[in-house]
Amino acid sequence: MALLQINEPGQSTNPHEHRLAAGIDLGTTNSLVATVRSGEASVLPDEEGRSLLPSVVRFREKGDTQIGYPALAEMVNDPLNTISSAKRMIGRKTADIKTLRDHLPYHFDDESANVPRIITADGPRSAIEVSAEILTALKKRAEQALSGELAGVVITVPAYFDDAQRQATKDAARLAGLNVMRLLNEPTAAAVAYGLDEGSEGVYAIYDLGGGTFDISILRLNKGVFEVLATAGDSALGGDDMDRLIAEWILDEINQAELSTDNQFLRQVMVVARAAKEALTDNDSTVIKLTLPDGSTQTISLNRSRMNDIIAPVIDKTLLPCRRSLRDAGLDKTDIDGIVMVGGSTRVRSVQEKVETFYNRKLYTGVDPDQVVAIGAAIQADILIGNRATGDMLLLDVIPLSLGIEIMGGMVEKIIPRNATIPVTRAQEFTTYKDGQTAMSIHVLQGERELVTDCRSLARFELKGIPPMAAGSGRVKVSFQVDADGLLSVSAREATTGTETRVDVKPSYGLTDAEVEQMLRDSITHASDDIQARQLAEQRVEADRAISALENAMAIDGNTHLDDNERSALLECMEALGKIKEMDDADNIKQAINELNDLSEPFAARRMNASIQDAMAGHNINEFSE
Ligand code: ADP
Ligand code: MG
Repeated sequence: MALLQINEPGQSTNPHEHRLAAGIDLGTTNSLVATVRSGEASVLPDEEGRSLLPSVVRFREKGDTQIGYPALAEMVNDPLNTISSAKRMIGRKTADIKTLRDHLPYHFDDESANVPRIITADGPRSAIEVSAEILTALKKRAEQALSGELAGVVITVPAYFDDAQRQATKDAARLAGLNVMRLLNEPTAAAVAYGLDEGSEGVYAIYDLGGGTFDISILRLNKGVFEVLATAGDSALGGDDMDRLIAEWILDEINQAELSTDNQFLRQVMVVARAAKEALTDNDSTVIKLTLPDGSTQTISLNRSRMNDIIAPVIDKTLLPCRRSLRDAGLDKTDIDGIVMVGGSTRVRSVQEKVETFYNRKLYTGVDPDQVVAIGAAIQADILIGNRATGDMLLLDVIPLSLGIEIMGGMVEKIIPRNATIPVTRAQEFTTYKDGQTAMSIHVLQGERELVTDCRSLARFELKGIPPMAAGSGRVKVSFQVDADGLLSVSAREATTGTETRVDVKPSYGLTDAEVEQMLRDSITHASDDIQARQLAEQRVEADRAISALENAMAIDGNTHLDDNERSALLECMEALGKIKEMDDADNIKQAINELNDLSEPFAARRMNASIQDAMAGHNINEFSE
């Protein structure tokens, strides 16, 4: 199929020169690396022929670090030093992972730190460093298989990753010595792999349920253009949650509630729970064997229909984002042409059944659900590195939450709406609020609500050097730019002098998925509150403006144009407005502003006449009528 090229400045190469590029699926549970050879994308296996690298790292004394299967095997024996699911912590602040942390066996070094670190036998390690170890292992694997150095890679991230999580992933890649050409959303990568294989056109839902994350994206595939219409998901939902429910069931069955605080035993239960779940994909029933801390063994059996009941809440929970993505895309289930199933957990039979029933559409399960993301990333890497002279492809992704700035009255003016296609640049002009204002403070926010206090603060910066002008005549253009990796930079420019300033927005921590969910839910439930809050805030700003304008005018020539009665009437009216302004009724404030305007009208008229007379002094009326 014909695809349109993305032009990456400075990355075009001599067509005869083949450069090594790879696609990396940095998963919560498993990671993979793939590359394109002789026009075919394939996953690169390790020396033992295994394509998955478990995303587990065990830190031992003196830097003797184990990565992948050997580390996975030690999870039960050495839980404190063996770190899994680092992706759930990457780009998160200690406070953000509090609830997560309560379920983890690790010891964290500093409760107040911005970047949480786990204390290991080889010193404290952050999720970024853990991910860097995994990336380093994949880099080595690829360079050995391809006999050369990788010139560039594409790394996939969940579509729902926010700015901080994307930055942290890039930092991990930098630590691993990788040149990241692009961060690509996982479902988009799956579509790339799928679209190329099947030549499909139409609207597709990409349902990706892995070990720790769930993503749903709605993509339109048309003449080789992949357009993301909407994304939704939950970055703390996946196969691990099924394992946890099955583990709880096991603890119940063996009646050993007091063991639920024994970390080592719990890890064993989690491991057998996962094995039982995977076994029930191909078998109707399975036997679970456990060794208790006292050395005795216990055996219980589990059948598929019982397991289906146990894990049903996890699967049902994925259907909420499915609904929301349809609503965001303005589509109905019947508009979806097919569902692409991605991620190891889509092997679970009841996942397939429930998703098929929900959409009442055909499921595409032809591409290996473990490999599809890495393969799509490899294809994209091959294009970006310039190996495909005729490879034309355009990928369009979207931002998950609206971006805006704070305006007067504590309100947020949205500049880029949620689900806008990236890369995107949007600008908006703002005026100065006060006479002689020489600086403007820019507060960048993310979220769906109208008030600053309900959105997430991303950055603040100041534009200085605005020439002093009358209120409303200084014009400042604020531009938001989100690049293809979903990273934001903001600049502000004053029109008359061209004074400019910009920031790259790098928040020190990100939004938790729970916060993202909450913000979206709030924006729907609070829509009418928000409109009222906005009206109130607007009227308050208007009231302040009216009072300060009148105070100014009275200070300048109140003595000339007002008698005592008029002056005290105006002062009284101003004071009343000041009080009404503090109350929560926009209509009342508006009425009080109108009263003040009416009352001050004769004063304004006299000032106007006086200034016209001043201006006309010594001139002929005809000069002005031209
Ligand atoms: P991630 O994207 O989070 O790295 P994967 O896509 O590799 O995760 O999926 C890992 C999950 O898939 C795990 O929860 C694992 O138990 C589950 N899984 C893998 N194979 C099977 C199977 N045959 N049956 C059921 N679940 C499976
Ligand atoms: Mg995955």
